[in-house]
Amino acid sequence: MTGRNPIEDLAHLRHEFGEHGGVNMSVEASSTFTVIDPETMPALFQGRAGPDKGCYLYGRHFNPTVYNLGRQMAALAGTESAYCTASGMGAISGVLLCLCNAGDEIVASNAIYGGTYALLHDFLPAKTGIKTTFVDITDPDAVESVITDKTRLVFTESISNPTLRLADMPRLAEITRAAGIQLVVDNTFSPLLLRPAALGADIVVHSITKFISGASDIIAGAVCGTEEFVAELMDLHLGPLMMLGPTMDPNVASSISLRIPHLPLRMTAHGERALAISQQLEALGLDVCYPGLPGHPDHERFSELHCAEYGYGGVFTIDCGTDERAFALMSCLQNEMRFGYLAVSLGYFDTLMSCSGSSTSSEMPEEDREEAGISPGLVRISIGFTGTLEQRQAQMLAALQKTGLVEA
Ligand code: PLP
Repeated sequence: MTGRNPIEDLAHLRHEFGEHGGVNMSVEASSTFTVIDPETMPALFQGRAGPDKGCYLYGRHFNPTVYNLGRQMAALAGTESAYCTASGMGAISGVLLCLCNAGDEIVASNAIYGGTYALLHDFLPAKTGIKTTFVDITDPDAVESVITDKTRLVFTESISNPTLRLADMPRLAEITRAAGIQLVVDNTFSPLLLRPAALGADIVVHSITKFISGASDIIAGAVCGTEEFVAELMDLHLGPLMMLGPTMDPNVASSISLRIPHLPLRMTAHGERALAISQQLEALGLDVCYPGLPGHPDHERFSELHCAEYGYGGVFTIDCGTDERAFALMSCLQNEMRFGYLAVSLGYFDTLMSCSGSSTSSEMPEEDREEAGISPGLVRISIGFTGTLEQRQAQMLAALQKTGLVEA
């Protein structure tokens, strides 16, 4: 079932009907589950019975509604299995703690979400002795050169947050396979348009909070990989998700499950808007970064690797030069033009804007931000699809003129 078009994979899944024949699955509200035959209980504890055989034990382990969302996420990611978590960070930390023991090492991209950077740079070394070497992920030789016999995995985002560089996943997979280690890819920025598992990633993580949710009302995540890996995450003795318990609420799982069918339409709409507005900005002479623009350093490789119908993603950046200019632009866009909201996060149906250096990348020391290309005036824009394109382009132009970023 894996490796085909994700839409076909999703349509191929068994449809879960509600308890009374509802077209939507029921929400399983129980935290514990009965067994008819007492023998099933030890079988569940010994891993001989489980959700694949319709047997449930306890909600922190598996819940039918959350399990079903996991099947949808696996279809989306093109992996054998998936497990949904209470947040993207829950998914990422679970994977890292599953693959690494005290004293092991990680190689990670130097341009990643600030929370993940802090987890790797500060939290894991202090709490577990797991150390990370950060590299420019777009330089395969640099990646190869820092892998040691203690390295267990290479971690990267498919499109880096906020610098929007593409990780060359097929090339990275060659390197990790040769080294006998895992390639872990965070595909939060690019569900559907990039399929890391088909491009060589062993494990794919998502912050569902972003595009997959699409309404900025839910915090959620997922780990997508082999059945064996999901079983390891849920092991009753050493499974980090079972031990640390970042469990997804079944009501949240039901809500997300109802949004996945229109994710393809939303991703296409985000991609079209992002391309049109970034082209407008480029034509105005602004320092805009969007993988869909031919001048983007990874445009060609991106065009080879992505699923064209979903475009190049819903996020672009404008470098305004200084944080004062960036703040003025965002304030004007929000408070005068009603173009969008000055808020962190991404993947909302409306536009969200933030200055990454002083917000979602502020966990990184200044010199690391500089090295990763995150300048103080960099505004990350997750473009929404509300309003008309003409209306949004007029609002953008007016804000740029008002704040002096282009001549009136
Ligand atoms: N990965 C990326 C690329 C993100 O941008 C974020 C949050 O912004 C996360 C992971 C963390 O996700 P969550 O907030 O759902 O824990």
